[in-house]
Amino acid sequence: RPRSASEPFLSIKNLVPFTPPPTRNVYLLGDSGVGKSSIAMQFVSASYLMDLSDFDFSISEDADDVYDKTFRVDDDEATVRLFDTPPCGHESFEKNEDKYLKDGDAYLLVYSVTSRRSFQRANELRFKLRKAKDTETVPIILVGNKTDLERSREVSFEEGRHFAASFNCKFIETSASLGHNIDEVFEGVVRQIRLRTQKSDE
Ligand code: GDP
Ligand code: MG
Repeated sequence: RPRSASEPFLSIKNLVPFTPPPTRNVYLLGDSGVGKSSIAMQFVSASYLMDLSDFDFSISEDADDVYDKTFRVDDDEATVRLFDTPPCGHESFEKNEDKYLKDGDAYLLVYSVTSRRSFQRANELRFKLRKAKDTETVPIILVGNKTDLERSREVSFEEGRHFAASFNCKFIETSASLGHNIDEVFEGVVRQIRLRTQKSDE
């Protein structure tokens, strides 16, 4: 059971009151149709594979969808609050763009490996983020989704890796449909946030 932040508990390990770690805001950003909502659905569905075929994806076009999940990474619990945003370029994205680009503790820049346009969109978003944030302390993970559609691939793994290296982001390829590498994305996000907050506290 996730504990609320206002509810400290006694840790047997060190016998001092221990406040659970804060909730981390993580934003999914990217072009329309790249699989942001599908990744969010797999994230909340724990580790079992969810059948996404009956899911109504249209509901996220206008409102923010927010998902909380507490899970264990490297022996410590972490709570991620995941924001599924409307596609960049969409009217409701532009309206809240400043908020999205400022409020995140981490960003998942999602593109589809089957769409070069979506890869270019990720590039544009990276520039916007660099303007809006201190990107030295805010982790960004480039996520190339839909690896199950290998025959329609337009963006190679190498290109993704190269882009990420040149912009100092982490890189991972996923398939939201198969649930492949989705847990790894969120474990990576938590590790990156921990690393960078430790650094800035020093
Ligand atoms: P969003 O607009 O970025 O939120 O994208 P959605 O999550 O709504 O996905 C758009 C379409 O791509 C839907 O039909 C999904 O079923 C499909 N989709 C999402 N992820 C994958 C994936 O990894 N593989 C395949 N084959 N299709 C996917
Ligand atoms: Mg969506």
